[in-house]
Amino acid sequence: MKNDITVQRDTEHVNVPDRYYASLRRGRLSRTLYYSYTEQRTIEEKRVAREDLDIHLRNRPAQLQEAKEKGVKIIGFFPGNYVPEEIIYASGAIPICLVHGGGSDTVDASLEEVPTIMCPFSRAQVGERLLQKTPYYRMIDMLVAPITCQHLKKAAEIWEYHGDIEIFKLGIPHQYDTDFGLQYYVDRVKALKDRVEAITGNEVTGEKLSEAVGLYNRIRDLLRKISLLRRNPHLPIRTLEFLKLNHASFYADPHFMVTTLEAVYEEARNAQQGMDVNMPRLLLLGPNVAYGDYKILELVESAGGEIVVEELCEGTRYYWQNIKTEGDLLQSLATGYLRDRLPCAFMTHSAKRRLDFTLNLVKDFSVSGLIWYDLLNCETYDSESYFFTQRMREHKIPMLILESDYGTLDRGQLRNRIEAFIEQISGVVNHD
Ligand code: SF4
Repeated sequence: MKNDITVQRDTEHVNVPDRYYASLRRGRLSRTLYYSYTEQRTIEEKRVAREDLDIHLRNRPAQLQEAKEKGVKIIGFFPGNYVPEEIIYASGAIPICLVHGGGSDTVDASLEEVPTIMCPFSRAQVGERLLQKTPYYRMIDMLVAPITCQHLKKAAEIWEYHGDIEIFKLGIPHQYDTDFGLQYYVDRVKALKDRVEAITGNEVTGEKLSEAVGLYNRIRDLLRKISLLRRNPHLPIRTLEFLKLNHASFYADPHFMVTTLEAVYEEARNAQQGMDVNMPRLLLLGPNVAYGDYKILELVESAGGEIVVEELCEGTRYYWQNIKTEGDLLQSLATGYLRDRLPCAFMTHSAKRRLDFTLNLVKDFSVSGLIWYDLLNCETYDSESYFFTQRMREHKIPMLILESDYGTLDRGQLRNRIEAFIEQISGVVNHD
């Protein structure tokens, strides 16, 4: 760290920079100066953790390639929170959640093979398959495709049509809250276990599964703890940074991720200051925000607002619940992934649970407005936005509905609408 110790320090203040240490010794470190120091230290140390993570992610494709050359299988899967990555990890393979999107190049490329009525996220998965420019997408040995919405299912079928890697279709019961739904999913999870054992040649033992569940529980636990810090009026970590951490956890080595998240959590927890407390606090919800799809968060920040919590596949739905570690672990995984997590909009009876959960987030995170971020042609979320609009109106919570096709041309229009919304809600804080 710049300005690090140049004089003898007592142990408590060994890393205090010179200009602050002198005031401290004289007993005259003012409150402002102290906050300035702790803030600088927090930013600096969080920056180091982030830089290490950036380096790790830059080197990750090469690391995976090296593992692949040694015979380790890389198993990709589509997001949505229905593929238990613990089973893949316990087989000795490396699980990678394929969640890139947000750019126009892949959605444009997909038009060679799919129509525009497919949602941009699913088209991005087709485009990635066709362009083969992202290493993660071209190095996987198998794709696990959860049968969730029609769009993602069709994207997997395009991959299957090309026929060069194995596709395992993981059936997901849309009646997630029924006993036969759970039984069906338990059966499919066992089939996944059999398949990964066959492809890797390794048995998924109880011991390995238990280790994997512990590891991924730790990641989810840390993400949740960091997330909850955002209830603080000073907001010690911005949501764009938090979402990027969440995305990184889909690609990074899980042990490395634990170390990074521990460092970020400690620093954010000890931060004395953060964002301006008077900034309008917003909740972002919708189907998903892909790795690279940061436009909305950036526009909100530049308009003077702040997303303080998100209800998305790559957000609360991923890390809010952990997997129970007692009893039959396959059964625990099935229950945890299917029942305990908030259901996506393609599930039957999903809206009420997500509505209630959203209202609790509004209260807990002192939110003053909602941004519903939809993707073009995502009909399940689009139709649910009606219920949310009605319910939020009853609770007098302003809600803005935005839609994206990952194009570059809509940025100006989105900016205007976000700025107008933030102006409208400035000063409104919901404590109901
Ligand atoms: S955005 Fe909607 S349509 Fe697209 S994959 Fe997600 S849930 Fe399916």
